[in-house]
Amino acid sequence: MNYNYRRVLLGADLSDQSDYVVRKARDLAQAFHANLYVIHVLDNIPMPDTAYGTMVPLDQDSSYEMLETVKSRLKQLGGRLGLEPSHLWMVWGVPGEEIVRIAGQEHIDLIIVGSHARHGLGLLLGSTASRVLHHAQCDVMAIRMPDEVARGQSLSEPHSRSAWEAAHNPAG
Ligand code: AMP
Repeated sequence: MNYNYRRVLLGADLSDQSDYVVRKARDLAQAFHANLYVIHVLDNIPMPDTAYGTMVPLDQDSSYEMLETVKSRLKQLGGRLGLEPSHLWMVWGVPGEEIVRIAGQEHIDLIIVGSHARHGLGLLLGSTASRVLHHAQCDVMAIRMPDEVARGQSLSEPHSRSAWEAAHNPAG
């Protein structure tokens, strides 16, 4: 394939379910001969070193621990994808907004995010995916997650098979 995509950005929420999207992003970047970058937006960890008047975590230590955990997950993901640390980005903010902002700043030409059906609401795109799709200045690819993957177990469960493996090899 010889498309014009040179800089591909994957939005990674680092959940176990995201394995499926990660693998597709890797394969697509390879097929496009593009550079792959990964961004994780911290939206649920209070910012450390906050000034007076801003939100201060009740338990500072555990918040730093969480930050370290997220960092090491992102590094692990980068290692699995064979990416240089400079291709891994972590920022604070609202995921949909930050993905779009960083994509513009870093001259990204394709953003990849996951999407899953929300049957009850009849929505195909989650809030992050839809925000990215509506505001990005470049192409956006939404990877549809199979229902089995979207319902998958979380990373925190020890010794569980990954959701991706379960979806692709149910008997294994
Ligand atoms: P959602 O809109 O929450 O269903 O998420 C859809 C997709 O947006 C995920 O599959 C990821 O690709 C991306 N995404 C969600 N949250 C984050 C995050 N905190 N950081 C980076 N990407 C994210």
